[in-house]
Amino acid sequence: MTTPFDVAVIGAGAAGMMCAAVAGQRGKSVVLIDHSAKLAEKIRISGGGRCNFTNIGATPQNFLSQNPHFCKSALSRYTPQDFLALVKRYRIGFHEKHKGQLFCDDTSDDIIEMLKAECDLGHVDWRMPCGVASVGKDGDLFRLETDSGEILARHVVIATGGLSIPKIGATDFAYRIAKQFDLKLVEPRPGLVPLTFDGAGWQPFVDLAGIALEVEVETGVKKERGYFLEDLLFTHRGLSGPAILQISSFWQPGASLTLNLLPQIDVAGTLIEGKTTLKKNLGNLLAQWLPTRLADGLLKANGFDGAARIADMPDKELRKLGEALNRWTIKPNGSEGYRKAEVTMGGVDTRELSQQSMMVTKVPGLHFIGEAVDVTGWLGGYNFQWAWASGVAAGQSIE
Ligand code: FAD
Repeated sequence: MTTPFDVAVIGAGAAGMMCAAVAGQRGKSVVLIDHSAKLAEKIRISGGGRCNFTNIGATPQNFLSQNPHFCKSALSRYTPQDFLALVKRYRIGFHEKHKGQLFCDDTSDDIIEMLKAECDLGHVDWRMPCGVASVGKDGDLFRLETDSGEILARHVVIATGGLSIPKIGATDFAYRIAKQFDLKLVEPRPGLVPLTFDGAGWQPFVDLAGIALEVEVETGVKKERGYFLEDLLFTHRGLSGPAILQISSFWQPGASLTLNLLPQIDVAGTLIEGKTTLKKNLGNLLAQWLPTRLADGLLKANGFDGAARIADMPDKELRKLGEALNRWTIKPNGSEGYRKAEVTMGGVDTRELSQQSMMVTKVPGLHFIGEAVDVTGWLGGYNFQWAWASGVAAGQSIE
């Protein structure tokens, strides 16, 4: 019989490499298996090629899950400062871009190389590219049928991520294994994704593609409410940019979004108050506040004549314009889907897992980490922080 490994980690992405390195450096025998020929493609393309590897302000409030308390334990035991200390130890240049988001100065490859070096320090045994046909349990041992033969292990860590960006190797492996072991799943759906609108309804806005501006966006009510002040980008098919990616994770099909395109200005109040002093026509006035192409497009889409003089317009009309700019309410008809989504929301139900070890309570030795689990971060380095923290939690727990 082949000697069993202490742990077989399936998926050599962010969470899997971190877990393998931590377990290996604790003296455990680790095999790390990935079906892809290229290592950690998602890290490579992340952050526009510069990997937004953490967010120094990350707290459990920056994560969505049906069980919002679950992530607290792992996040508190491996913090952004811990990952940053590792980055500094490898002398990787980094900078803060926006709201606590830390990026590599050079490329994401620096993070991949660092994690690979950490795995080497832990004497991790690599199997890559190597598909896994099945994972079975024989008493205390897991038996994996793989392209490079049978692998036995006392623990199996599933770190195969979610469904986003199938063209670089995303699969539903984690969900299949969860179903095989009779675990509950929170229905997966695309998150951090551009939103689309009905073709005919969107027609008046198609020409605005490429325009970006800072907006307030919100959706939902009470506990489900999402609110962000971020940049919005008009596209040919709908809306994108950080504001929309963020709100997409809160948006429920059938619900509306409310956008404030001029968060600094009470449009109706300013126009009504300034009727006698503002000598300009509508088009010229709005062009002071918004890009001209956007001002013209919005006036047209809302049935206003840009040449109309503000002084001649009834208050009711100005209020209508104010509402259109300060509280633009629109209903997406869907999203760009997994092809464009940065993450997969949902996944293995956290109520099946120990928050200490990420191990399945009813299947001793089987762990799930990273994006495969129903914990999804906001845009801005949070998802990697969850991958690192959940990977460390599992890696430290293996005895
Ligand atoms: P992954 O990193 O996706 O790793 C999963 C691994 O499992 C892969 O190597 C894959 O090949 C392997 N695998 C899959 N199926 C199988 C199988 N059947 N058999 C064997 N191996 C398998 N997050 C941030 O925090 N900051 C960012 O800047 C950022 N930018 C992003 C940009 C883009 C375009 C995308 C798509 C995502 C971005 N994310 C970012 C999200 C982040 O990349 C993921 O949340 C994170 O990589 C999840 O880590 P993971 O280890 O769980 O999964």
